[in-house]
Amino acid sequence: MHDVLPTETPLWQTAEAIIREVLGSYGYSEIRMPIVEKTELFKRSIGEVTDIVEKEMYTFEDRNGDSLTLRPEGTAGCLRACLEHSLLQSQAHRLWYYGPMYRHERPQKGRYRQFIQLGVETYGMSGPDSDTELLLIMDRLWKRLGVRDKVRLELNSLGTIAERLVYRENLVNYFNQHLDKLDEDSSRRLHTNPLRILDSKNPAMQELVADAPVLMDYLGEDTISHFQAIKANLDNLGISYQINTRLVRGLDYYSKTVFEWVTDELGSQGTVCAGGRYDSLIEQLGGKANFAVGFAMGMERLLALLETVAIPTAKPVDVYMIRVGALAEQEGLRFAEAIRDALPTVRLQVGVDGGSFKSQFKKADKSGADYAVILGDDEVSRGEVAIKSLRDEQGQQTLSQQQAVAFLQSRYF
Ligand code: ATP
Ligand code: MG
Repeated sequence: MHDVLPTETPLWQTAEAIIREVLGSYGYSEIRMPIVEKTELFKRSIGEVTDIVEKEMYTFEDRNGDSLTLRPEGTAGCLRACLEHSLLQSQAHRLWYYGPMYRHERPQKGRYRQFIQLGVETYGMSGPDSDTELLLIMDRLWKRLGVRDKVRLELNSLGTIAERLVYRENLVNYFNQHLDKLDEDSSRRLHTNPLRILDSKNPAMQELVADAPVLMDYLGEDTISHFQAIKANLDNLGISYQINTRLVRGLDYYSKTVFEWVTDELGSQGTVCAGGRYDSLIEQLGGKANFAVGFAMGMERLLALLETVAIPTAKPVDVYMIRVGALAEQEGLRFAEAIRDALPTVRLQVGVDGGSFKSQFKKADKSGADYAVILGDDEVSRGEVAIKSLRDEQGQQTLSQQQAVAFLQSRYF
C-alpha cells in the first residue's frame, strides 16, 4: 500500500476531473459503495477457484463472527447495492464508482495491495451497442488524457456458459496430452479453472498455449452475431482493435464480450483497463435475469502512463501574500478574503508566520506562485498594495486594492 504525495496529487486530480467530465457526457451516474462486504458475496460472484478468492482477499471476522472482506473489486458490491435498493427494476442503468480495492498480491511495479479503480457498469442492456458505448467512453478518455496512441484495444468473446463448458472439455483434453509441459500454476488450474492457463504469463508456456484449441471455434450463432456487431460498430467508428483469442480475464463471471486496453509502456503490468459482459451474474446473486456489461481501470497504471506524457496540472499556489507590520497583518487577512471573494478559483496563500520582507519573499518564491501581493504598513495606510511578478522581470507595481483585484482578474480569467 502506498502514499500519494502532494507532488503527485495534482496529476491525480487532473485525471479525476477529466474522468468525471467524460462519464458525465455519456449520462453516467456515480454510486458509492462501502469498502467492506460480506465474504460470501465475493466467493459467489468472482468464483471460488479464481486467484482473487483463492489467495488475494483480505478477509477477517468482525466482532459478531461475520466473515467480511475488503473489496478486491467493485462489480460485486455495485450489483449487490443495485439489488438491495431495487435499482434494476425500472430502467437501464449506467453507473460508475471510484475508490480503493484490496488484493494481497506480490507487490511490484504496477501491482499494489491497495489500488484505486474506476469502475463503470451498465445494467439492463443486451445489445452490442452497450458494449460499444463502454469502448467509446475509454476511447474518448484516452484522447482527452493525451495517451490514445499509447494504448490498444484487445477483444475476445468468451461465449455463454454452455458454450464454454464444451470448449473447456476439449481444452482439458488437449492439456492432458501435454501434462509434462504444464508449469505448477497451470497443473493446479487444469481441473479448477483451465481457461486461466491460456492467460499464463510464463514464457515457457507460450508455445503450448499457442497450439491449444480456440474458444472462438466453439461459439454459437447468437454469440457470434453479437460479437460481429461490436466489431462492425468499431469499424464504423474508426476504433481499431485486435482480436485476442487467448484473452480470458481472471474473473469467472464474464460471458460473451471481454476486452482489455493494453499499453507497452509499463512493462509486464500492461493492462490498464479491462472488462466485459457478465449477464449471468445478476441472477447468480439473486436478482431477476438481466444484462450487464462493465469495466474497471487501474488508476495507478493510468497515472504511470500519464507520467510518460506532459499533462498540464494546476499549481498549488498562484498568488502569495506578504504582510509586514501590525497594520498590514490585520488588513492583509481581510484583503486576502476579498481577493478570494472576487477570484474563487485562484489559489492564494498568505504568509501567516511573519518574518522580514526578505524571508517572506523567499517563501513566496519557493511556493511556486506567479505573483506576490505585498502589504507594508505604509501601503495599508494609503489604501494601496504592491504586486510583484515572481516569474519574470516585470518589477513591482503599486496599485489601489481595487486595481490589484482587477489586475489579478485580468491574469486569471
Ligand atoms: P492482472 O492480470 O494485471 O492481475 P486482473 O485481471 O486481476 O489484472 P481486474 O481484476 O480486471 O485485473 O482489474 C482491472 C484493472 O485493475 C487491471 O487492468 C489493472 O489496471 C488494475 N489492477 C488489478 N489489480 C491491481 C493491483 N494489484 N495493483 C494495481 N492495479 C491493479
Ligand atoms: Mg490479478
